[in-house]
Amino acid sequence: AGRLVLGVRVTPLSDDHVLILLDDRSQLRRVEETRRDFVVNVSHELKTPVAGLSLLSEAIDDARDDPEAVHRFTKRMRTEADRINRLVMEIVEFSRLQVAETLDDPQRVDVRECVAEAIEHMRLMADERNIGIQAHDEGNRAEVFGDPDLITTAVRNLIENAVNYSGSGTRVDVAVKGSPDLVTVAVKDQGSGIPAGEIERVFERFYRVDAARSRRTGGTGLGLAIVKHICANHGGEVTAWSEEGHGSTFTIRLPAAHPEPSETTIDRPVD
Ligand code: ADP
Repeated sequence: AGRLVLGVRVTPLSDDHVLILLDDRSQLRRVEETRRDFVVNVSHELKTPVAGLSLLSEAIDDARDDPEAVHRFTKRMRTEADRINRLVMEIVEFSRLQVAETLDDPQRVDVRECVAEAIEHMRLMADERNIGIQAHDEGNRAEVFGDPDLITTAVRNLIENAVNYSGSGTRVDVAVKGSPDLVTVAVKDQGSGIPAGEIERVFERFYRVDAARSRRTGGTGLGLAIVKHICANHGGEVTAWSEEGHGSTFTIRLPAAHPEPSETTIDRPVD
């Protein structure tokens, strides 16, 4: 899809010959457009917390004689500063992933360990909201080639969303499955769900179903775009399934790393 953009260069070779070079710039133009949209989005995202900081500092000035109000406003300033910090960190992470189409130095990664680490990371936040995280593991080999930190980040982002968009007393199930070809991680919640018409769009940068809710939970709108890029960089994919009002399941599928040759057992006929 999209327009064809051609670059034309004409070079005279002699009195009756010219060399015409045509090159397809469509891809380049699309990259430029994406980059420009991204910059516009980023400045839009930064505007709100920066304006918030500015207003809060004025409010503190006005409330100098009221220590309780000053305390309240400084607390809110910290929240806004944290949001800016998080946004900047995620933008850096996202840009790095976009630039790197392949991984620098892929290693053999046990996805089970990444999942355990991601759950560990999210446990406190889930406890605070009275949401249980339940791990399910069939015990099969679940190894891929890639970057363990990135895989942990992807799983953590999915669990974080599951916790953020679910109510108190619900449960998040995280299941790891390994097969000879594929390793899957499914994160299932009992939360608000996503309307059918929007499910494809949630992987777009800065797309939110409910912007107010996302901002309240400190969301940047980049979490799923980061997951999508991490999966693509590993030769895999992430998909979403959801029923509005009944919860969502996000599934990461990555190509499995085959066992190292030394570990392969050869079946020999019994004498
Ligand atoms: P955010 O920082 O806003 O959470 P994401 O890219 O992680 O950004 O997600 C994009 C949007 O997709 C969210 O704002 C939310 O509307 C929706 N979403 C993501 N995960 C879930 C989920 N588990 N349940 C319901 N909605 C979700």
